[in-house]
Amino acid sequence: MKLTVVGCSGSFPSAESACSSYLVEADGYRLLLDMGNGALGELQRHCGLYDLDAIILSHLHADHCIDMCAYFVARYYRHEGGRCEAIPVYGPQGTEQRLTTAYADTPSEKSMSEVFDFRDLAPRSTFRLGPLTVTADRVRHPVETYGFRIEHEGHEGRTRALVYSGDTGPCDTLCDLARGADLFLCEASFTDGKEDIPELHLNGRQAGECAQRAGAERLVLTHIPLWTDPRHNLRDAQAAFSGPVEMARPGAVYEI
Ligand SMILES: [Zn+2]
Ligand SMILES: [Zn+2]
Repeated sequence: MKLTVVGCSGSFPSAESACSSYLVEADGYRLLLDMGNGALGELQRHCGLYDLDAIILSHLHADHCIDMCAYFVARYYRHEGGRCEAIPVYGPQGTEQRLTTAYADTPSEKSMSEVFDFRDLAPRSTFRLGPLTVTADRVRHPVETYGFRIEHEGHEGRTRALVYSGDTGPCDTLCDLARGADLFLCEASFTDGKEDIPELHLNGRQAGECAQRAGAERLVLTHIPLWTDPRHNLRDAQAAFSGPVEMARPGAVYEI
């Protein structure tokens, strides 16, 4: 299984990075996790515009989903080969209506469903996408938000697990999802001692503590907004987690 960081800037895009978006590939199957501001452009550095097999949206904050409006245009008005077939798009309840409203201000419009097969996520649910087994569970954020465990059986028969936190404050659900993960992609938006809103985001220390509790193999911190010092969060996470820690950066590739 291969993970490519398409965008990792928290809350809004930076000069260096689009907002949250991560490409997961295995056995030729391509799954995109989130499609925040600027992600559609960056995505085309890593795969063809029409090469995605499925999309999962952790939640409906703009920095995780808003480029779906642009992607709709690309799929619906495709110049060569006609309109694209619908690919599965998993998201919280109301994803279709929310994206339709963001695109056209006509919530009754149904054209998005011609190119996206919208499916509701549910807490503690597991579903299969090509060679991947995805487990979704609710994490701690002001809107319906999911974290994900994505498993793939490697060629040597060992199951590998990638866990993505979505946006979340500290919660047991996230540690349960991350149990023994080979790679734990965890948000660390806040700075320890500076912001403390447990219903909203994690800081570097909390991300490290969760990885330690979960017994994860490797921790990658992501969703760092402009006003957070990534070096501070890296140090805090390293102090709490005994395994390797690094910062996500656009274009980074991980073999899991
Ligand atoms: Zn976010
Ligand atoms: Zn959010």
